[in-house]
Amino acid sequence: VFITFEGIDGSGKSTQAKRLAEALVAAGFEVELTREPGGSEGAEQIRSLVLEGDPDRWSPETEILLFTAARRDHLEKRIWPALEAGKVVICDRFADSTRLYQGLRRDGLREQVDRLHDMMIGTEPDVTFVIDLDPALGLSRAKGRQGSEERFEDFGEGMQRRMRAGFLELAQDHPERFILIDGGRPADAVAADVLARALPRLPA
Ligand code: C5P
Repeated sequence: VFITFEGIDGSGKSTQAKRLAEALVAAGFEVELTREPGGSEGAEQIRSLVLEGDPDRWSPETEILLFTAARRDHLEKRIWPALEAGKVVICDRFADSTRLYQGLRRDGLREQVDRLHDMMIGTEPDVTFVIDLDPALGLSRAKGRQGSEERFEDFGEGMQRRMRAGFLELAQDHPERFILIDGGRPADAVAADVLARALPRLPA
């Protein structure tokens, strides 16, 4: 079973991915917790290439190619083998992040992301949790983090608002895959909610 977490910067999705992994391990499941961009050695190197240094180094088109290359490596080295072994794979961000973070940068890019995804990735999660949060709250949370690679400042709150709307639209278009979670509550309450919604989707 392949589960992903999505949401804007500061939404708490990384915390929640970790909390779900811990709860499922405690319940006896074999779990592989991973993240994007990154998750394999090669993909982590690509992550550093994109997220560290000059934010204008790569065009949005090149970022799409780099993140797709990273995702392919991550799938080959880690996600596909884990799924094959019957594990629950929990990934903090996946293709939906590229659909929005890169796809919304300019008109027409979303289509390029989708075409490249169909060609080179193919795999979609069984379940995607969107941790939904007001971007102003996300911004203050993300800014409180030390040494973070957040790109909030480059993108600004306007972009985060479009991103949030984008996640909500994706969720509406694919109700069989997406589960919307109110991320404005205390972490314990969110974690309990996520676990309750995840359990019915897992093998008994
Ligand atoms: O989720 P995480 O905090 O690890 O993401 C690192 C940064 O990379 C975030 O600021 C996020 O906005 C950015 N990102 C991006 N494009 C993606 C995925 C993440 O710009 N496809």
